Amino acid sequence: MLFCVGFFCIACSERVNSMKAMVLTKLRTALEWKEIPDRQPGPGEIRIKVGACGVCRTDLHVVDGELPDPKVPIIPGHEIVGRIDAVGSGVSDLSIGQRVGIPWLGHTCGVCFYCKAGRENLCDHPVFTGYTRDGGFATATIADARFAFPLGEVGSDESLAPLLCAGLIGWRSLAIGGEGKNVGLYGFGAAAHIVAQILKWQGRSVFAFTRPGDVKTQAFAKSLGAEWAGDSDQMPPAPLDVAIIFATVGELVPLALRAVRKGGRVVCAGIHMSDIPKFPYQLLWEERQVVSVANLTRQDGLKFLRLAPQMGIVTQTTRYPLEQANQALSDLRAGRFEGAAVVVP
Ligand SMILES: [Zn+2]
Ligand SMILES: [Zn+2]
Repeated sequence: MLFCVGFFCIACSERVNSMKAMVLTKLRTALEWKEIPDRQPGPGEIRIKVGACGVCRTDLHVVDGELPDPKVPIIPGHEIVGRIDAVGSGVSDLSIGQRVGIPWLGHTCGVCFYCKAGRENLCDHPVFTGYTRDGGFATATIADARFAFPLGEVGSDESLAPLLCAGLIGWRSLAIGGEGKNVGLYGFGAAAHIVAQILKWQGRSVFAFTRPGDVKTQAFAKSLGAEWAGDSDQMPPAPLDVAIIFATVGELVPLALRAVRKGGRVVCAGIHMSDIPKFPYQLLWEERQVVSVANLTRQDGLKFLRLAPQMGIVTQTTRYPLEQANQALSDLRAGRFEGAAVVVP
């Protein structure tokens, strides 16, 4: 690449392969459609030809500059499904043509206190796909091979993409929430629509909470087996054992605390949330707990993706061409679709 200028190589006069991507060049602006020279995978890396990439609320937080230490320009997207088309040196367990999924957790240091304790989701020096390393709103992407999940051949790229974050963070939230029977889901978007199906498979009861008056999403939740669906400021018909908050609204924390039983747990699953308003201690009293879930570990991913086919999860996706990623983001922001958005090159 030393001699390559633009997309032509002076040394060989041949066109160098290029890729197309939707790039965030400045925070709080629209992504830009760009053609950029293709990269070769370095040692320990793979290059993936992207088949589909899910659109996550975290992408909105990246675009909006709501996460610390943003890297721009950046290619967002961290629910990537594609096929390996180049392999760097030292990669022996993955091969060209293999289908893989690339999640949010793009790299960890392996040596910090958290990595050594098996809690790599809390690594002190992590790299995150689509946030601190380029992601999947592109025709191709480079990933650390150790953080790629082999996906096998069951299911379309588009249907699998939402599992890579919405599914994974939902899975981890459920694990942190514990084994209670009555589970409340606050915010019924991409993650909750997958979690509801997991809960049903596990024989548990789903109580879905949406924005007040959003009867369309409440009907969607019921179609996925929710025992009850209502407004987020309503009380459920039975006390909850666990409440998981996927929405980014801090006001939901006291509402969820009010809805859980003694000893119940409220799990905040988002990477970003508006401020939590002050609330009476009475809501926390009697050993109720409020906890957050951060990122994922590779063990989470391996376990969930191994079980997902048995659970019979069917993701509901709305497909956008890659160059319409801005439309996908604005539709997500406005809640214009049920389930998950996916961009496809
Ligand atoms: Zn995500
Ligand atoms: Zn670490």
